[in-house]
Amino acid sequence: MVKKVFITGGAGFIGSHLADVIAHKGWQVTVYDDLSSGKKEFIRRHMGQGYFQFIQADLLDLPKLIKSMEGHDLVFHLAANPDIRHGIKYTDTDLKQNTIVTYNVLEAMRVNKVKDIVLASTSAIYGEPRVMPTPEDYGPLLPISLYGASKLACEALCASFARTFGMKCWIFRFANIVGGRGTHGLIFDFIHKLKSDPKKLEILGNGKQAKSYLLVDDCVQAMLHAYARGKARVNVYNLGCDDTIDVTAIAKLLIGKAGLKDVKLIFTGGKRGWPGDVPRMSLAVDKINGVGWKSRRGSRQAVEIAIERTLQECKL
Ligand code: NAD
Repeated sequence: MVKKVFITGGAGFIGSHLADVIAHKGWQVTVYDDLSSGKKEFIRRHMGQGYFQFIQADLLDLPKLIKSMEGHDLVFHLAANPDIRHGIKYTDTDLKQNTIVTYNVLEAMRVNKVKDIVLASTSAIYGEPRVMPTPEDYGPLLPISLYGASKLACEALCASFARTFGMKCWIFRFANIVGGRGTHGLIFDFIHKLKSDPKKLEILGNGKQAKSYLLVDDCVQAMLHAYARGKARVNVYNLGCDDTIDVTAIAKLLIGKAGLKDVKLIFTGGKRGWPGDVPRMSLAVDKINGVGWKSRRGSRQAVEIAIERTLQECKL
């Protein structure tokens, strides 16, 4: 059956990759995005096609959102403030752009009787867990960033709307997602720093922060795979792979692939890059593996591919 899919944040990094795959399946796609961090060029190939609609609007505009969502079957809610560091300076951004916006999406679904929502959540909801790799049923959940706190609230809203109003939700807690079309994140930041000075690279923290990375293609496939199989009213999955790579190793990979020589690595020091940065993150992926999906690449390979794609997009 052809589904009518509503993607919030569909002009962003992950959202636009998702839009490509969903359009390829022959489903109808509506992208609702205010282009605050997303870009029209990421969805340009679909513009003007019969299966595709782009609405440039803010999710904080609830009447507009309710009207736009009419007649859809499924919502992928990816829009959010993507910058964890932003919360250090502007303490209400995550609350508004993540939590209030998620409430608006769920309220628009309730009014329009849309039953299925897929939420892009994050490993940041675990804070600094004692158990690693961290399984989905780990608790208590005590995030250490305002971003993590707001995403945890988004999860709670999805679960409670699902139970109260007969909806179903799929909550995906992403590791670091990497690939082309980046507008933020470690690889993007490093490339831009090296562009302005190819002789030195500043690394926030001691460079030993080790995390799990997943290629955006795999992230999209995993969401669609688990969506097709989710039986529960509330389905929660970690999405990542079963290894990690540290920041210094990523910097060295990038320098090598960019063909740069004698780059001085300058560490700002301390175990975390900024307040709210979790120095080590590793997600247990047995649950998603158990429904028949496993990442085809480890963290290092995902990072390598992402570096290659990003270098092609913004040459050094
Ligand atoms: P992104 O910034 O590229 O995409 C977010 C999109 O949402 C952008 O296109 C932006 O313009 C749009 N948007 C933001 N606020 C909006 C608003 N009020 N109204 C309408 N549109 C709005 O970020 P991304 O990396 O693609 O992240 C997608 C989702 O995945 C986010 O929810 C993010 O928290 C989550 N996530 C991402 C990662 C990662 O490593 N990239 C990791 C964990 C979780």
